[in-house]
Amino acid sequence: MEIQSIEPEQISQHEYWMRRAIEEALKAEAIGEVPIGAIVVHQNEIIGRGYNLRETSLDSTAHAEMIAIREASEHLQAWRLLDCTLYVTLEPCPMCAGAIVQSRVPTVVYGTTDPKAGCAGTLMNLLQEPRFNHRAEVIEGVLQEECASMLTKFFRRLRGKA
Ligand SMILES: [Zn+2]
Repeated sequence: MEIQSIEPEQISQHEYWMRRAIEEALKAEAIGEVPIGAIVVHQNEIIGRGYNLRETSLDSTAHAEMIAIREASEHLQAWRLLDCTLYVTLEPCPMCAGAIVQSRVPTVVYGTTDPKAGCAGTLMNLLQEPRFNHRAEVIEGVLQEECASMLTKFFRRLRGKA
């Protein structure tokens, strides 16, 4: 009973922040980018936001997480994102998982898995690699259906146009 009374609260908190990450993803979608969004939360405040800008910026590194991490570091004036939680709609790729390890993000919450690039447990797990000097707690599947359907709808529309 006790566990049950705690869990829904935590889940709804994660859902609350994941909705903010989804809002970022929708900003990407609005400009024709693949809808992926991320936020960094510190002491119940969003200190970093990002959405995929790969096409707009012609930059293969302009992933949502990279942009959100950069903004969070600027906010904290520190490269170490201690006591931060990163929320992202799609499982991080190897580059973003690397940036998460480098910036020491303690907790990563993601929406849906990425069977083609996911490195937080799907293809490999760079966030919990025991040989690295940092490991993150990973919580997956928060608002999974919404995060996944944003992507499938986007690609379906893209195919429709082509
Ligand atoms: Zn990435």
